[in-house]
Amino acid sequence: MSDRRPALTTLAEDERLFRDSVFEFANREIRPLVRRMDEDAVMPRQLIDRLFALGVMAIEVDDVHGGAGGTFFHAVLAVEALSRVDPSIGVFVDVQNTLVISALRRWASDELKATYLPRLATDTVGAYALSEAGSGSDAFALATRATAAGDAFLIDGRKLWITNGNEADIFIVFATVNPDAGYRGITAFIVERGAPGFTIGKKEDKLGIRASSTCELIFEKCRVPGTNVLGELGKGYKVAIETLNEGRIGIGAQMIGLAQGALDHAVHYTKERHQFGKAIADFQGVQFQLARAATEIEAARLMVYNAARLREAGEPFVTEAAMCKLMSSEIAERVTSLAVNLFGGYGFVKDYPVEKLFRDAKIGQIYEGTSNLQLQTIAKQIMG
Ligand SMILES: Cc1cc2nc3c(=O)[nH]c(=O)nc-3n(C[C@H](O)[C@H](O)[C@H](O)COP(=O)(O)OP(=O)(O)OC[C@H]3O[C@@H](n4cnc5c(N)ncnc54)[C@H](O)[C@@H]3O)c2cc1C
Repeated sequence: MSDRRPALTTLAEDERLFRDSVFEFANREIRPLVRRMDEDAVMPRQLIDRLFALGVMAIEVDDVHGGAGGTFFHAVLAVEALSRVDPSIGVFVDVQNTLVISALRRWASDELKATYLPRLATDTVGAYALSEAGSGSDAFALATRATAAGDAFLIDGRKLWITNGNEADIFIVFATVNPDAGYRGITAFIVERGAPGFTIGKKEDKLGIRASSTCELIFEKCRVPGTNVLGELGKGYKVAIETLNEGRIGIGAQMIGLAQGALDHAVHYTKERHQFGKAIADFQGVQFQLARAATEIEAARLMVYNAARLREAGEPFVTEAAMCKLMSSEIAERVTSLAVNLFGGYGFVKDYPVEKLFRDAKIGQIYEGTSNLQLQTIAKQIMG
């Protein structure tokens, strides 16, 4: 028997079919909407319904709970394929799978799983609310408070920058049950839209990924049943750390998809555009730039796939996840910038697709831990 291992980029048959069907869907159903969604900063509910029907909104949820019964690697492939067409849809699907569902699968009681996973698999969008105005990188300095009131908790505070806030009905909300205990007071709660005392605040007007909503959440004595604690009281920090470690791989996937999308556009355009009597793609100077971009994307893809495969194999992956997010977001910025350059003046206007991808790329260095925070994780590992 051969003990040869497949290359990281060699996909199993089911992975390849899944990736191809998601990319085909993105080309057919999403591409025609990309510009309008960006300009209007909206994600049509009809499109969300189609994403549910496609089976990408509950990839790792087992069939008992109505999900697709796929793997974490399937989720990575879906986010990459969607982001190649629109990174806003990529992050929409990413948050649902790698943060919300991932946290529920690992930490929820059987009752909570039975209540929420089928909804998340059918028609309900989730959001993950950790950040606040005063606590971003220093996430565990959060100020949102949860006070015990009989068999319930009353949540008071505000969350900022919450992806999917506009569309979500189920929110994982981090609050402290004991501010004196520091991070050991942090607890994760499942809060439903419509809970008394919970309102969605301002929706941000953003540079990029504009179709992905980013909202403030306001909690004023918001009553949440005690049974909606996700995991244990005071162990919310673990829920946050573990889900975000995985989530970073999803953002890596978003960034390599985005970069590949920009490269696709650049290759196509440079073959069409003529200057000095020939296609600009015929100039070696242009070819070399495209070749470097393709090489960088391949390097980032290997890092993302490796981190995802490690996570799936149950091996340590935290450093690799930080590295893949750091690298893929820098490469996405470089490749989209090159694409704008190669489109010339046309790269600078909204009639062509690359200025949007250039704007979209920037977020990869900010959310789910800024690049400095990824460097901090990597440094901790190498310094011992
Ligand atoms: C579009 C968007 C979507 C988001 N979605 C979500 C979401 O769904 N859920 C959620 O909970 N949050 C979300 N966030 C919040 C995001 O995770 C934070 O913005 C991010 O973690 C950075 O926090 P901050 O904005 O407070 O910046 P700060 O923490 O104030 O950082 C500012 C700068 O200081 C640097 N810095 C901070 N500390 C250090 C340090 N120790 N060493 C070196 N440099 C440091 C940072 O690298 C950064 O450059 C989202 C943000 C955006 C913009």
